[in-house]
Amino acid sequence: MEWNYANKNHSTIINEKNGVVYLTFPKLAAAGVRHGFSTRMGGVSKGYLGTMNLSFTRGDREENVRENFRRIADAIGFREEQLVFSAQVHETKIRKVTAANRGEGITKETAPGIDGLATDEADVPLYTSYADCVPLLFYDPQKKVVAMAHSGWRGTAARIGAKMVHFMEKEYGSRAENIIAAVGPSICRKCYEVSEDVAQAFREAFRPEQFPLLFDEKGQGKYQLDLWEANRIILTEAGILPEHLDVTDLCTCCNHDKLFSHRASHGKRGNMGCFMCLDAETE
Ligand SMILES: [Zn+2]
Repeated sequence: MEWNYANKNHSTIINEKNGVVYLTFPKLAAAGVRHGFSTRMGGVSKGYLGTMNLSFTRGDREENVRENFRRIADAIGFREEQLVFSAQVHETKIRKVTAANRGEGITKETAPGIDGLATDEADVPLYTSYADCVPLLFYDPQKKVVAMAHSGWRGTAARIGAKMVHFMEKEYGSRAENIIAAVGPSICRKCYEVSEDVAQAFREAFRPEQFPLLFDEKGQGKYQLDLWEANRIILTEAGILPEHLDVTDLCTCCNHDKLFSHRASHGKRGNMGCFMCLDAETE
């Protein structure tokens, strides 16, 4: 399998089980937390939804999506009927989830307008969805908390990653320096051309000396924007230690045969899922 790597930082582990290919992140994997980011490989969906579409609302047959969830759940190791879904709207609302919410999104309605999920309870697998936007994953091994945030350009400009760190501190007593995090597969700087309005949102959210790290101005109101670097800055400024953070080396658009990319497909695409779940203590 030939991947197009954006850099050589080896921040993604490629896993495969029964033909289902999914990605994990070295620091989270070393900490022993169950997590994974799906690819297009190993599902039953057809055409541009092929093969591992994890959205019920992009024109796929419901039984295909259900089978895809069964397969990715089996590969990563959680029960799909227990999943709790986000309901992403490119805002920054974060929801504290418990066992009482199991199944919301897959067997019953979930709360609307949620771009971040967190839980400190075992066997409550969390699901957020992607096709170029940035997945942020968080794990506090001290307080046993998992959390994810959907950080597209709007969420990044609104610093949802920092908001999640503060949420974990407030709700669970986490300390930022204990949190292990990852910035997952999403669109890279070379692939992500944006317009003046987006650049302006980033000028307002960051300091002028940071602008060269974040975007290149190409003229005529066009920019190449770096959401990976933006989220790295946001998370480290929120107190996450660089040695506790993996920043992806895989672009969804550069690998659109293996990953769904909204940009590369002009919107004709399925959704990938990012999953995290705490295991019950065994002793
Ligand atoms: Zn790219």
